[in-house]
Amino acid sequence: MYQVVIGLEIHAQIKTQSKMFCGCPQATDGLPPNTALCPICTGQPGTLPVLNLQALKLGIKTGLALHCRINAESKFDRKHYFYPDLPKAYQISQYDQPIAEDGFLEIEIPDEETGEIVNRKIRIQRLHLEEDAAKLLHGAEENHAYVDFNRAGSALMEMVTHPDVASPAEAKLFLQELRLILRYLGASDANMEKGQMRCDANISLRPMGDTAFYTKTEVKNMNSFKSVERALEFEIERQTKLWDAGTPPDKLSTRGWDDIKQITVLQRIKEDAADYRYFPEPDIPPLHLDALAKEMAKTLPELPAARRARFIDEYELSLSDARILTDDLNWANFTEQTFSELYAWLRSLPDMAGLSEEQIIEKNSGKLARLVGGYLTSKLMGLMADKHIDIRTLKITPENFAEFIALLYTNKISGANTLTLLKNMFDGEDPAQIMEEKQLGQVEDAGLIARAVDEVLKSCPEQVTQFKSGKTSVLQFLIGKIMKEMQGRADPGAVREALLQNLK
Ligand SMILES: [Zn+2]
Repeated sequence: MYQVVIGLEIHAQIKTQSKMFCGCPQATDGLPPNTALCPICTGQPGTLPVLNLQALKLGIKTGLALHCRINAESKFDRKHYFYPDLPKAYQISQYDQPIAEDGFLEIEIPDEETGEIVNRKIRIQRLHLEEDAAKLLHGAEENHAYVDFNRAGSALMEMVTHPDVASPAEAKLFLQELRLILRYLGASDANMEKGQMRCDANISLRPMGDTAFYTKTEVKNMNSFKSVERALEFEIERQTKLWDAGTPPDKLSTRGWDDIKQITVLQRIKEDAADYRYFPEPDIPPLHLDALAKEMAKTLPELPAARRARFIDEYELSLSDARILTDDLNWANFTEQTFSELYAWLRSLPDMAGLSEEQIIEKNSGKLARLVGGYLTSKLMGLMADKHIDIRTLKITPENFAEFIALLYTNKISGANTLTLLKNMFDGEDPAQIMEEKQLGQVEDAGLIARAVDEVLKSCPEQVTQFKSGKTSVLQFLIGKIMKEMQGRADPGAVREALLQNLK
């Protein structure tokens, strides 16, 4: 048995208007090739880069969210290499003084044996800013390659973890949590499929109990969370065989993930460490970040883990509901507003008069959490998936959804009709009004229920005889008939009572 040692390097496209050192647009999706470029990002002689302040701010904010130290002194460096996607023959990056260092990200992972949730701390070595390279496209014609400079010079942040990741599942969870944090911060859209977040992984094995580090393999080209997990699983299998055969990897190598064949393929063996001849970028003055770090600390929003914990603690949502509802900032806000509407409504009820805020929450939170959690995560999200509606285009407002929950809470709507009501709310109409128009409300008129009971009993003399001879199981059948007669608009409890009364 071997222990798995994984370190991750993540690049995220920063959500700025313009590129890292020039005024060209940062988001170039959908633009024709080579239409978002200028002398600076194509590396023309005599041009001067100017640092994008917004990119710096978002980098610092991310560093803070990852519990990093923001370095008081930071600078940019030139990293030299020669490749057609790099017009200057160097990339402006950060070498020995990145903006942020020594942080961590905590992930919650179920224990493999007990299933219990364990907190795992993955240490972050550094976070630095840099510019992206251009995109190299291999065209249909043989021996031709094309360069699209739209991406050249766009603003990136790179985050490097310590080799603390112990399994492919942990790697995936880490990346998912990181993506969520970047989105909560507005620092990046971090969509892996769109290349807004890219991940390389370094992986090696070692005998159980051994603490040494052995020769690692770098894995690239993983374009989704799933491919990260699969590629690492493949590598573990491949390297296990090498260890078992007594020939563990002894040369640093880079392998690419082939998503179609589901294998990693050797790209190159690194004979010696690459020499990038780093030296300080003379055109960008060194940065003094103390004041900016203090300013950014004040703008940090509540982060996903904290919000998850609060949803469980404050609203008594289940862990799984809290996870689903905080996994998207829009959903988290929708949930929050729904609860706030519901508590405002509860405070206005006559039977809550005289109770303190805590007492009102204490008295109602369990039932409310079950209703809100259940109807949001399974019913509403399910209907939205069927209709291909996104939370950002959903016309049901938190106010309307809270009113819908209130109708359920007070049994104003019969169970059989709740889904019909919810389905009818998608145009943005008020639920009480729909209920009125479509006659979906609960019938409380005892006379109406008694009449329906009468009708049904008259039509089922056989079942009545069976019941009277002691076969009580026909009761359920009769209740079903009466509910149908009332088009689902009666309370099954009230129907049962009226039925028993009549049969006596
Ligand atoms: Zn430019």
